[in-house]
Amino acid sequence: MRHGSIPGARGRVRPVTLLGDPVLRNPCEPVTGFGPELARLVEDMFATMYAAQGVGLAANQIGEPLRVFVYDCPDDEDVRHLGHVVNPRLVEADGVVLRGPEGCLSLPGLEAGTERYDHAVVEGFTVDGEPLTVHGTGWFARCLQHECDHLDGGLYVDRLDGRRQRRVMRQAARASWGGRAAAGTR
Ligand SMILES: [Zn+2]
Repeated sequence: MRHGSIPGARGRVRPVTLLGDPVLRNPCEPVTGFGPELARLVEDMFATMYAAQGVGLAANQIGEPLRVFVYDCPDDEDVRHLGHVVNPRLVEADGVVLRGPEGCLSLPGLEAGTERYDHAVVEGFTVDGEPLTVHGTGWFARCLQHECDHLDGGLYVDRLDGRRQRRVMRQAARASWGGRAAAGTR
């Protein structure tokens, strides 16, 4: 990303994949090519995340099964964290486990109390292939863990206790997008 450019400004808003789409349930492939195509993907991801008013987005949420996520997310001290990670690895997730409201652009309009560590460290690369380390606390640590789960085919609903999981799955089935998701269309 060039100095002074606004992330996503040149990106295309793409449809967000919804619960029920198999691309959300398969582990994503590592990125091997650090070229203009990857930069375009990251731009599209920022544009899509902002259009959907999300704080994070994984590549499989726009149907690309690659290990990349973007974020623009505050922490509990209201410090803004903005960036992207290619081939991320969650190298630390520790501290206190907090249950807090968590949602996902692939289950629009829903949220549930989800347990997450309040500290996380992710290592990975920039679109240019430069190594990168991202530290997160609080809400941002939650975001980092959520996006890493996506790239392994996970969703926050997997981490809910039985009662909360049943409730959110019921709400998903009743949601306006639920039937479409079940039918596999986007
Ligand atoms: Zn999500």
